[in-house]
Amino acid sequence: MQIHTTLFYVIIAILLIDAIWGWILEELNRKSRGLKVPERLSDVYSQEKFEEQKQYRKVNHRFEKISSTFSLVVLLIFLWFHGFAWVDGLVQSISDHWLLRPLFFFGIIGLASMIMGLPFSLYQTFVIEEKFGFNKSTLKTFVFDQIKGLLLGAVIGGLLLSLIIWFYEFAGQWFWLYAWVGLSLFMIFFSKFYTTLILPLFNKQTPLEEGELRTAIEKMSQRAGFTLDNVYVMDGSKRSTKANAFFSGFGKNKRIVLFDTLINDLDTNEIVAVLAHEIGHFRLKHIVWSTVLGLLQTGVMLFLLGWFVNEPALSEALGASKPVFHIGLIGFGILYSPVSSLSGLGMTIFSRRNEYQADAFAAKYARPEALQTALKKISANALSNPTPHPWYVFFNYSHPPLLKRLEALDMKVLK
Ligand SMILES: [Zn+2]
Repeated sequence: MQIHTTLFYVIIAILLIDAIWGWILEELNRKSRGLKVPERLSDVYSQEKFEEQKQYRKVNHRFEKISSTFSLVVLLIFLWFHGFAWVDGLVQSISDHWLLRPLFFFGIIGLASMIMGLPFSLYQTFVIEEKFGFNKSTLKTFVFDQIKGLLLGAVIGGLLLSLIIWFYEFAGQWFWLYAWVGLSLFMIFFSKFYTTLILPLFNKQTPLEEGELRTAIEKMSQRAGFTLDNVYVMDGSKRSTKANAFFSGFGKNKRIVLFDTLINDLDTNEIVAVLAHEIGHFRLKHIVWSTVLGLLQTGVMLFLLGWFVNEPALSEALGASKPVFHIGLIGFGILYSPVSSLSGLGMTIFSRRNEYQADAFAAKYARPEALQTALKKISANALSNPTPHPWYVFFNYSHPPLLKRLEALDMKVLK
């Protein structure tokens, strides 16, 4: 068998194994639901709410199965009939320019996959989330979100892609190193300015007003040794009733963003505890380390790309008759996915460890029992699964399951 034919079957095998593995985990998780509410959660989960939660998961499980099968089948058919080479031929007949051709190519692929995903996201937002009372999005918000997302993707994706192709054309064998420096600078810029440049396109943020809550937050952050100048409230209720809070940026741009839904659902002590957890992520350097690890992962990927990029079989496996950089890029992306799943697994393990540490930090500077009730409320309000399968947690969860976090906090309450 010729090398590109072998490579073609390896690509198909990777896609199939990945999908089957995903289904096995989903299936295990579906079967691991308990019949009764775990005792610890009976104050937030009534039997009725528990049944609703099971129903919500069942509907989501079925939806997930259908949508992932659909995209897998489309991709397999596309690969089988040399779809990527066909699109490239189409683009080439319009422009053979070294930069325009790959930009058009990815533009068409990106637009097509967005259009195919559209019915699914419409269904998820306006049927599933709506049915369980989570959805607050209007059709207008939804349409504008899609358009803004598309434009943002085109601008950012187009710029980064141009940069990589330009390096490839002009920097020779060291192109991966240039691309790494370029992407790293971009990622740092992006995380620094995310809340000031990107988020305002989708949400309104207002500084948290003076009052009891603000004073309590300031007192806690003083104790925790953190200068807190930027606490913002974001109109999360524009889209969903689900609550959240996050930390973003660094230097002068660091800020804590609270969803307005969180303020509605929790009392002052609970909000302070959640914020102490977020400050913990900062003080314990989790944010710096996740960024460094992310940059290292990108470096490894680009190094391998630099190694394989001139291998003609990479694009020939996808049906190109001559080596083409941007088709090879897609082949590389699929071949690399097992490696990225593995490093992703490392990141979720790291992230769960960080969550325990941030919880412990919060227990020191706020009330641990307030963090416990906050976590319970947030989790029950989002109808999240109180008894996920341990394997599913190991491979997919960036946060430890609720009961485990409560147990870890128990030790702090007793102290
Ligand atoms: Zn956290």
